[in-house]
Amino acid sequence: MVFIVLGIVPLTFFTSILLNTYEEKAISNRKAELENQGLMLSDMLYSRGYLTTGEDPEVDSEVSRISDIYSGRIIIVNNSLNIVKDTYSLEEGKYLISEDVIQCLQGAGTRSFHDRKTHYIKLTYPITHDDSKETMGAIVMNFSTKDIQSIRDSMEQRVMLFMIILGVLIVAFSFYFTGVLTKPLTSVVNSIDHITDGYMNDGITIKGYIEIEKISDSFNHMISRMQTLENSRQEFVSNVSHELKTPITSIKVLADSLLMQEDTPIELYREFLLDITDEIERENKIINDLLSLVKLDKTAGDMNIAPININELLELILKRLTPIAKKQNIEMIYESFRPVIAEVDEVKLSLAVSNLIENAIKYNTEDGWVRISLNADHKYFFIKVSDSGIGIPLEAQDSIFERFYRVDKARSRETGGTGLGLAITKNAIQMHRGAIKVYSKEGEGTTFNVRIPLNYIV
Ligand code: ADP
Repeated sequence: MVFIVLGIVPLTFFTSILLNTYEEKAISNRKAELENQGLMLSDMLYSRGYLTTGEDPEVDSEVSRISDIYSGRIIIVNNSLNIVKDTYSLEEGKYLISEDVIQCLQGAGTRSFHDRKTHYIKLTYPITHDDSKETMGAIVMNFSTKDIQSIRDSMEQRVMLFMIILGVLIVAFSFYFTGVLTKPLTSVVNSIDHITDGYMNDGITIKGYIEIEKISDSFNHMISRMQTLENSRQEFVSNVSHELKTPITSIKVLADSLLMQEDTPIELYREFLLDITDEIERENKIINDLLSLVKLDKTAGDMNIAPININELLELILKRLTPIAKKQNIEMIYESFRPVIAEVDEVKLSLAVSNLIENAIKYNTEDGWVRISLNADHKYFFIKVSDSGIGIPLEAQDSIFERFYRVDKARSRETGGTGLGLAITKNAIQMHRGAIKVYSKEGEGTTFNVRIPLNYIV
């Protein structure tokens, strides 16, 4: 529709203006020519005294010549409205009483009229006395403008023909072009439907113009991102199920073995029940950690930001954890280079730092140390947690932040680890638009560097 409107409408408009201008110009030219002939004829009529004699072969032939050229009728009237000459020889001797002639004789000058419907020009030209300028008669010329009209008609026909051809071409072109434009879009829609039906792996491959290829690329990018998320979700669900099942399986094995034995000594009962309690505690810890993680994910946009004294926050965490460290004879060292006040979510940051220090204690050696330091520049504050522990093998360093990843499952289990601590830490730090890095050497120790902006970035 747009193509048709843009193509045909302006053309119709311009054609109509063009044809009307042509017609007006041709009619005004014709009038000017006739006025010239009138002037010439009136001079001749006057000088030869034709109005009184009514006869002069030269005048007659001139009048006939003009009426032949313009294919029309010339009537000459004297000032008594008496018709002296009529090229149609119909009205000679009669009187011509018309408004134009009367006004012309009264000195109103040349009168002209163009009738568009019947296509003729009527021109009434005064015959004036050379000296007195008195109007002595009038020449009435009635000429057809059909020739002009027929030229206009034939031009119009041609333009119409041209427009029809152009219209057909535009329609054909429009159909073709809209087809070309919409075909790749239809493929995109079909591919999206295909993916909606569950065939996620296929992606879309659409060749077309650049924009469509860009859409297709962006779409595939989105799909691959969704796929990654979906894979990680599935992996998470299967890990969660596995982790939750492990303590339950142990509890079942312990309970079954008690049931199967007869005359079980009470000491064994006690021992097994203690193991069962341990497993229940472990299950409880996994569930709690999972809840913390899910809560962090769910409340991503819901940070409880306030200016917090970070020195005090760290001191509080250390106070809570020092007794645990003491049990393993681990020395806790705290260094603060300057007072730091930062806009953070106290609960989330505290959780993140606690996990790091707990790990530093858990994966340490007897009589080891844990060093926590706090520093800041104009933009960020930095927390460093180093330990003299067992370290993390290089190949595992990329994976430790993944949910449920543990370097040494047995050791982690012994120390009550769930594999979720560092995932929670990383999540909480990222929510503060911060970053965490690990440096570690097996057998020597580990350092976690945390960097968080002093002012919370929304
Ligand atoms: P977990 O609950 O098992 O401690 P985390 O997510 O906190 O889980 O840590 C993941 C794994 O990274 C741990 O199982 C451990 O193997 C390793 N790890 C974390 N912190 C340290 C550390 N300070 N020293 C050595 N290994 C560590």
